[in-house]
Amino acid sequence: MRPFDYLRADSIGAASQAAHSGATFIAGGTNLIDLMQLEVMVPERLVDISRLDLGGIEATADGGLRIGALVTNADLAADARIRRDHPVLARALLSGASPQLRNKATTGGNLLQRTRCYYFYDPSQPCNKREPGSGCGAIGGVNRIHAILGASAQCIATHPSDMAVALRALDAEVETESVDGARRRFPLADLHRLPGDTPERDTELAQGELVTAVILPPAKAGHQQYHKVRDRASYAFALVSLASVIEMEGERIASLALAFGGVAHKPWRDPSVEEVLVGKVPSEELFDHAADTLLRDAKGAGSNNFKIPLTRRVLKAALRQATRTEMAT
Ligand code: SF4
Repeated sequence: MRPFDYLRADSIGAASQAAHSGATFIAGGTNLIDLMQLEVMVPERLVDISRLDLGGIEATADGGLRIGALVTNADLAADARIRRDHPVLARALLSGASPQLRNKATTGGNLLQRTRCYYFYDPSQPCNKREPGSGCGAIGGVNRIHAILGASAQCIATHPSDMAVALRALDAEVETESVDGARRRFPLADLHRLPGDTPERDTELAQGELVTAVILPPAKAGHQQYHKVRDRASYAFALVSLASVIEMEGERIASLALAFGGVAHKPWRDPSVEEVLVGKVPSEELFDHAADTLLRDAKGAGSNNFKIPLTRRVLKAALRQATRTEMAT
């Protein structure tokens, strides 16, 4: 690990100012320290935000929740309101990492963790995300964990967060504060980017813009599930995951939200899939039509071709399970 300067911020403004001048935020550090040890990231200056007043989970006026950016993954998963009203989020959190990591990892840091692409983590390999213009080792290389949707000729990496996938299904929003004190609140859907020609940029955040909170709307009606397919039963990233909220009205699907992980550079939600399903009576044919719609532009890169039929099976399993459960209640 290369030497670096360390600053502990005593205000959001001071933290943003330091980051605007080139410092890198650190909170739980569960991903950043790994990246620094491997010299994938070599910040000259760290600004520690872990003592800022960004903790706590508060009820909002409309019946939702405001989750401070420094709330740990463990505390968020254990919160009684999350478990009762947003169980898909608790389940996604508990499916990620290990108890030790969840005790340190924060809500903001979880959203901003970097891809687990093998080539990104190996500075001896080409990687457009780590070193723009150097090429992509994963294209034509080992790409078993890589994207099948929304990838580009520059990068086929996936976003590794389980939490972000559940938040996407729950229509969460993100709150930030910038170096000039300006605050903004926007849909989580607009936080992460597809790689395009600039895979080095994971998010739409500006330099020095700090995530201060995540906002959850009031509880969504319907059956909530988190399906995660991975190589090991624990402590493994998703090959394919699906956060779903499915509400039935009689024999028909009244509403639903479907967000996929492990398949793209950002949590993947496709409104046209939901349009196929809403108002319809569940059937295998309908579920196949939804899967066809979801995967119409899916493209494997070789070793990850299996993700295309796997994503279909995960979607159909989740739809079968939720629609039967909902109709039985
Ligand atoms: Fe780098 Fe993206 Fe290619 Fe991985 S997939 S090597 S992160 S450019």
